[in-house]
Amino acid sequence: MRLRDKVCLITGAGSGIGQSTAALFAAEGAAVIVNDLDDGKGQDTVSRIEAAGGTALYIRADVTRPDEVSAMTERALARFGRIDALFNNAGISGVGMLHEVEPDAWDRIMSINIKGVYLPSKYIVPHMMERRQGTIINMSSCVAEIGLARRASYAATKGAVLALTKSMQVDYAPYGIRVNALLPGTILTPFVETYLRNSYDDPEAGLESIKKRQLSEELGRPEDVAKAALFLASDESKFMMGSPLYIDGGAVFG
Ligand code: NAD
Repeated sequence: MRLRDKVCLITGAGSGIGQSTAALFAAEGAAVIVNDLDDGKGQDTVSRIEAAGGTALYIRADVTRPDEVSAMTERALARFGRIDALFNNAGISGVGMLHEVEPDAWDRIMSINIKGVYLPSKYIVPHMMERRQGTIINMSSCVAEIGLARRASYAATKGAVLALTKSMQVDYAPYGIRVNALLPGTILTPFVETYLRNSYDDPEAGLESIKKRQLSEELGRPEDVAKAALFLASDESKFMMGSPLYIDGGAVFG
């Protein structure tokens, strides 16, 4: 078991990549704190983990709200005593050229995708610093590195997360904390299904064009990203610090 006795907190773990990662971390021996703001989805993840014999606790918190994230941190620490790994995964999609993005939509995606990495880190890092150990995984995207059409606001958030990851790594390395980023390509989750519906008159044709953009010519699965997250959360990646890890079927070369 690669995460035996570890305590891991995953934001946005009620769906897609977060849910898959929560299940894998629990199967590898971790106690998993499942965060989401959708109670039904969060509880569903916990039920799946418990049905498989694992340990999980759902804590509702909106990752953009300091009071809720602070309370989540305190509740998690009260129950498990520590947090060994934090996966800042929660995020939303954004579609459109920059001039098409309305100011409210711009603020919303900046808040969830960037502040949603800042806040959990802000409240959990001090506890990791005290223990002089911890690992943080930030969810970026391959759009941080490649120009994709009509993804202006989303790309801006994921580029920011990558820059933040490197800065955090430099600051917290002296405290024994590692901070790395995941850069997935297109992974078939509810998030991508919504994106396809909102972006293409013919979502099936849109799906085919996205497949062709990746060298793999297939979309990734949430499990593919979960395995990369497991590597970053475990001691096996102890020499990775501030690194971008691509799980994109070769999208950056497409
Ligand atoms: P998803 O929509 O399936 O899951 C996201 C989860 O985050 C949902 O359960 C949602 O309720 C939760 N969430 C949203 N806002 C929240 C908030 N304010 N506080 C707490 N929870 C919140 O999406 P996914 O595809 O699994 O994506 C997860 C992450 O991976 C996102 O950051 C996304 O940008 C990133 N990503 C996804 C892909 C992809 O192709 N699916 C590719 C690259 C990066």
